[in-house]
Parts: sequence; C-alpha cells; structure tokens
Amino acid sequence: MRGRELRLFKYVFVWGLALITIAGGILFNSGFPWDRWFYMLVFIGLTLYLHFVSKKLPQEMNYSLFTSTIFPVIYLFGPTAGMLIAVVAGLGDGIFNKKSFTRTLFNISQLALSTLAGSIIYEVAIKEKIGLWYHGAFALGLAALVYTYINLILVAIMASISTKTNFKNRLITLGREAFFSSLGISFVGIIFALFVDAYFIVGLVIFSVFLVYLARLLALTVELSGEKVKRQELEEELLIDEMTQAYNFRFLNNWLEDSREENVAVLFVDIDDFKNFNDVYGHAEGDAVLKNLTKTIKDNIRSTDSLIRYGGDEFVVLLPNQNKENALKVAKRIKEKLSQLPYALKEHPITVSIGVASAPYDTADKHQLLSYADQAMYMGKMKGKDDIHLWTVS
Ligand code: GH3
Ligand code: MG
Repeated sequence: MRGRELRLFKYVFVWGLALITIAGGILFNSGFPWDRWFYMLVFIGLTLYLHFVSKKLPQEMNYSLFTSTIFPVIYLFGPTAGMLIAVVAGLGDGIFNKKSFTRTLFNISQLALSTLAGSIIYEVAIKEKIGLWYHGAFALGLAALVYTYINLILVAIMASISTKTNFKNRLITLGREAFFSSLGISFVGIIFALFVDAYFIVGLVIFSVFLVYLARLLALTVELSGEKVKRQELEEELLIDEMTQAYNFRFLNNWLEDSREENVAVLFVDIDDFKNFNDVYGHAEGDAVLKNLTKTIKDNIRSTDSLIRYGGDEFVVLLPNQNKENALKVAKRIKEKLSQLPYALKEHPITVSIGVASAPYDTADKHQLLSYADQAMYMGKMKGKDDIHLWTVS
C-alpha cells in the first residue's frame, strides 16, 4: 500500500475500533457505581499517577503498570467502570506524552476494548462457575490473559500499519517484549482486587500506596540503568584515540595496572621514517596514513585483541592467549597488508618495524613485557627498518 492509502486505512481502523468500543460499551453497560464513587476516584487518581510515572519507563512497561488498576475495578464494579478507567488511562497517556489525536483515540479504544473483553470473560467464567476457587481469582486470571492478548494484537495491528511492517513479525516482537511483563502486572492487579475485596477502603489505600512506590521504584531503576549506560559510554570514549579510533595510552595504562598474570603476546609497531613522510607529503596525508594503518591492523586481528595508539606513530597490539609464533604470523600479515596500501605505489612506501615479546615466556611482568617489545622494535630499526624482531636475551 502507498502512503496515502495507508493513512486512510489507519483512520478507518482507528475510527472503526472506536465505534466498536462504543457499541460494546453500550451493549454491556453495567452502570457506574455511584454509591462507591470514592473508590472510583482513588482508582482514577491512581491510574493517572501510574501513567504520569510510566512516561519515564521504557515503552513496553507503559500500559502494564496501569493494568494493575483495571482488574480490581472489573472485579468490584463490572465492565463499564473498567472501561471508564481504560478511557482515563488512554486520555491521560495522550495528554502526558503529547500524543496525536488519532494515536490517543486508538489507545483509548484498544484499552477499553481489551478491558471489555477481559471483563466479559470474567463474568462468563463466574456465571459458568469455572474455577471459582480463591474468590474468583482464576476467573480474573482468564480475564488477564484475554486482556493481554487482545491488547497486544490491537497494538501490533496499529504498529504494523504505522511502520509499514509485517503484522506477524510485529506481534512476535511485541509479544516477546511485553507479554510476560504485561501479564505479570495483571497478576499484581488480581492481588489488588482480592486485597480490596478483603479489606475494603483500607485495602484500597494500602495497595494504592504500594503501587505508587512500586512505580517510583521502577522509574528510578530505569533512570539509573540509563545513567549507567551513559557513564559506560563516556568512560569508553575516554579510552579512545580521537583521530585513529584505536585505544589510547590511558587504555594501556589500565591494562598495565591490572596485576593479573596473563598469557599474552605484544607487538610494538613504529612507522619507519614517518617524519620524512610528513615533510614530503604534508601532515594531512600523514594523518591519513595513521588512520589507514589503524584500519589495516584492526582488520587483521581478532575482536578479543586490542590495538592501542601508544603515541605519535607508535602502536601497541595486545594478543591475549597467543604465543610468540602466532604473534609473529600476525605481525607478518600486518606488514604484508601494509605493503599493499595505495601509499606503497608512491615513491615513498609506508613500512613499519615491529617488535614482538610474549608473556609469560619472556617475562610475567607487563611493564617489562612492553619494554621488551619496544626494545625488540628498536633492534629492528637498528638492523635497517622494515623488519620484525623477536625479543631475545642477548
Ligand atoms: P623512525 O623510523 O626512526 O621511527 O623515524 P621516524 O621519522 O618515524 O621517527 P619518529 O618515530 O621518532 O617520529 C615520529 C614522527 O611521527 C614525528 C611526527 O612527524 C609524526 N607524527 C606523530 N604524530 C603524528 C600525527 O598525529 N600526525 C602526523 N601526520 N604525524 C605524526
Ligand atoms: Mg617512527
């Protein structure tokens, strides 16, 4: 379907759903519980509060929190009062989260329709005396299942229309994300219903306070985990060399300070006559070489290995759980790939000198290991550069 047709289809779907919901509401009208208006006031207030808090929660938790107020209302007052709560929830959500009119109308309708379906199932179960044990908790459980299913199906239809994706795939992802959390909160709602049934107004107040705290706790948890991710990203950023995107000296320092003994090989890489290259081709071209070198090395090491820009034109590669022979192979591969870079075509090919040392074979001390790899690289330079040198005691 094209964009225009899709939009039309969306309107027809949303308005159709709204009309079906209104018709259902009239057909199954159970009246407003005027004699217990105070209960309804508390439920409405609680529903709005839960929505207000839940806008800070991830999407899949949005409706589940409010779901816990639906079930006591269905249980105590029937479908009409339940649908009223759903309308309040959908309206509150639309206003708090600044949703469009169509979106809000859809939310109100789908919540009210799911509630109606849930409460019809509940009443049928009670009438047919299906599992009346535990004061109808089983019948409420059935209602929760039907509510959750219908809710997910309607949301999946809307989401697949809005994002032009396949309905079945949408339903599967949504189900995976939200089914159990939604059903879980429904069960909290069932306990809520039984609590109010047993302790009346005191039960209502106590459980409402409990839900308010639960919602705040959830919001806080989400906020904290968001902060944690942000901090981790920031810390990660501090360890990256801005120009090449390799790790920087700070990363190497952290590794050096970690005193655990490791089985690791180290390559110390230094570009040959790079100062000269810069002088001939300019600093910008030199920067491009550094970036290309980084990419070449990264492409030729494993994801568990680390590439660090030690400074200037010096790089260190950490190869965990590799012996010297393997490290030598890696060094040879890097050199070979470097010789194929376009710079090699110019009269000034880019070559490197690489020193190799490994722990615990050469030393178990990380500082010393690094120094050995550095010295090995230096020996390579002494021998005429463009060389790989294994560190040996001489
Ligand atoms: P050698 O073969 O002995 O290593 O000679 P070299 O010229 O490479 O000498 P050295 O390693 O001491 O010099 C490093 C040079 O790397 C100096 C500087 O011109 C260049 N360099 C360092 N950092 C950067 C950078 O960020 N960008 C560019 N373009 N060049 C850099
Ligand atoms: Mg150099």
